[in-house]
Amino acid sequence: LQSKLPNVGTTIFTTMTQLALQHNAINLAQGFPDFNCPQELMNLVTEAMRQGHNQYAPSAGIPALRQKISQKTQHLYGHLPNPDTEVTVTSGATEALFAAIAAVVQPGDEVLVVEPCYDSYVPAIELSGGVPVYASLTYPDFALDWQQIEDKLTSKTRLLLLNSPHNPTGAVWQQEDLDALTRLAQKHSFLILSDEVYEHMVFDGQPHLSLLSVPALAERAFVISSFGKTYHTTGWKVGYCIAPPALTAEFRKVHQYLTFSTATPFQHALAAFLDNHEHYLTLPSFYQQKRDLFAQLLQPSKFELIPCAGTYFQLARYANISDKPDVEFAQWLTKEVGVATIPISVFYHDHTDHRLVRFCFAKKEETLISAAERLCQL
Ligand code: PMP
Ligand code: GLN
Repeated sequence: LQSKLPNVGTTIFTTMTQLALQHNAINLAQGFPDFNCPQELMNLVTEAMRQGHNQYAPSAGIPALRQKISQKTQHLYGHLPNPDTEVTVTSGATEALFAAIAAVVQPGDEVLVVEPCYDSYVPAIELSGGVPVYASLTYPDFALDWQQIEDKLTSKTRLLLLNSPHNPTGAVWQQEDLDALTRLAQKHSFLILSDEVYEHMVFDGQPHLSLLSVPALAERAFVISSFGKTYHTTGWKVGYCIAPPALTAEFRKVHQYLTFSTATPFQHALAAFLDNHEHYLTLPSFYQQKRDLFAQLLQPSKFELIPCAGTYFQLARYANISDKPDVEFAQWLTKEVGVATIPISVFYHDHTDHRLVRFCFAKKEETLISAAERLCQL
């Protein structure tokens, strides 16, 4: 059988989580919280089930949830998407990313991705017959290099894929990035796919600069978010995509045959819980405390931390500890030290190795303390 994805193996998240389980290591690798979502939200799910919301949801998502997403988007970013024609509920952001790419990328189209990048982007591009074109964030600041991005644009560039707050680096867009993107968008006709799943994890008083806040960008963009990140429910797999009507129409054609619809009781629960603005408004300080605690705990260690402005990931340079390549170091750390982590080279198509690993700090205080104790022994 000729593989359609010859360069793809098992994702690093599965690999490292399995290794962590095998060696009974503390899992700071795959990004997920080790604490529960609010009790009230769980109650709303069981309530929805008891009320009989257990059959297929409408393909685009239940109207109440689309409406709440739309209102929240206006409140936060000053953009009011029409819930009927511009908001689609998906089975996680992963499905939304795949559906958006499949909806607009034709064989031979170029799709610009900026590395290091989340691992689901490129396989989705390749399955659509698209050609990934790679730009990279600057090193060691992990900022967008707009000159480099402009140099890589061609008449075949169909889509530009961006992500802020950025997984795995923790970098976030600044206003000048949105300005530069707006200038490029005036000169070129590419569409934009903006992965904003960590929109509520931006620290140090900075706002999240959603692409939706700029009308000239929103009119040509798919903007994707995930309730899994915001509500500590990665296992529920509920996300959404906001895009103008023409793009949403194409998006929904794919979505209806990819999954058709997303789990109904979760949609009802989230629709009811979205009125709780407190939860997402306090999320930055909730995660900033964890970021700061983890950094403080690692202060005596030999790891050098890269500043983290957003997401629940902390990058650390380990060159003072080992000269192993990062994949080997991550395996060794899991097996021998008992802390699982993610090597960063897997997010570059050419496996660029800056001797960096990523720790997820979406963990209980005691988990972070135990992990840091082990890491400080090195
Ligand atoms: N994009 C990024 C940048 C992510 O980190 C993740 C989650 N790991 C996703 C998309 C996928 O989100 P979901 O779990 O909602 O499919
Ligand atoms: N987004 C999560 C991370 O970056 C992993 C999601 C997954 O396992 N596919 O760790």
